Amino acid sequence: MAIYNTLLYYCYSTIEDAEQFAADHLKFCKSLGLTGRIIVAHEGLNGTVSGTVEACKTYMDTVHADARFAGIDFKVDEVPEPSFVKMHVRHKAEIVYSGLRDPEMIDPKQKTGKHLEPKEFMAMKDRDDVVVLDVRSNYEHSLGKFKNAVTLDIENFRDFPAMINELAKYKDKKILTYCTGGIKCEKASALLLHEGFPEVYQLHGGIIKYGKEAGGEDFEGKCYVFDNRLSVDVNSVNPVVISTCRNCGKTTPKMINCANPECNEHFTQCDECGTKMEGCCSDACQSHPRKRVYDGTGYYVKVPQPVNINKREKIQLA
Ligand SMILES: [Zn+2]
Ligand SMILES: [Zn+2]
Repeated sequence: MAIYNTLLYYCYSTIEDAEQFAADHLKFCKSLGLTGRIIVAHEGLNGTVSGTVEACKTYMDTVHADARFAGIDFKVDEVPEPSFVKMHVRHKAEIVYSGLRDPEMIDPKQKTGKHLEPKEFMAMKDRDDVVVLDVRSNYEHSLGKFKNAVTLDIENFRDFPAMINELAKYKDKKILTYCTGGIKCEKASALLLHEGFPEVYQLHGGIIKYGKEAGGEDFEGKCYVFDNRLSVDVNSVNPVVISTCRNCGKTTPKMINCANPECNEHFTQCDECGTKMEGCCSDACQSHPRKRVYDGTGYYVKVPQPVNINKREKIQLA
């Protein structure tokens, strides 16, 4: 039986004093003993928190009781241990950074792609007049994506607006966007509509909800997540592994962060290479003096970087 839950959610809803809200919300989360990361902006909330089943329930009930957030659709996972170590609530300009010079240009609260529930998405995705578009980054779709989805060569969602020209060839199709939990699609689909794509839909609740409600059918590989699990299984109907080890090319679903803290790249590596290379992406990283101890998970808690790296390296080498 799971003792802990990990929640994932977002909400586009105006928060007038977002900075004050963030400070108060941090206190509230800490009072419940939760860990996780929440972004608060004028445009809404974006969070993932982890804690006891009871604490998570209190959290969801309290957030739902606020009229601004009554409609939040929490994705709830059972986990054997909390998925985070610390609790952060940060005030930012946007809940997901769009890379638009003027983020006001689009407003998902006013206009965004039509939401498709997982089963509706499943029914539409293989039609000839449909293009399924993955709006996530390289390290995410290289680990797993929908069969036949169009992917973009981007390292960060902020690069998405610059890629829209490449998608012009699909303007006569229906575009179905998807991402991890749905939050990026709110902006991506709004932007596509703004750019003149006539029919844009988005997978409501993202891959995570699709896994729960549609068995994850036709999602190939695993889904990258932003906590210490790094990736989760989605497809219980027809799963396949599509990712390969960066070092030896063998098929592997395992995603890690490079043990060199200055690299910290997300990449796929098989267990064999992980042992051999101590969780590093390259020989250069493996010989880095500040390399962290690889415990087989490839997940590292972020620690404050030393002010003078050279000095620290001398100490460690001595
Ligand atoms: Zn390998
Ligand atoms: Zn590296």
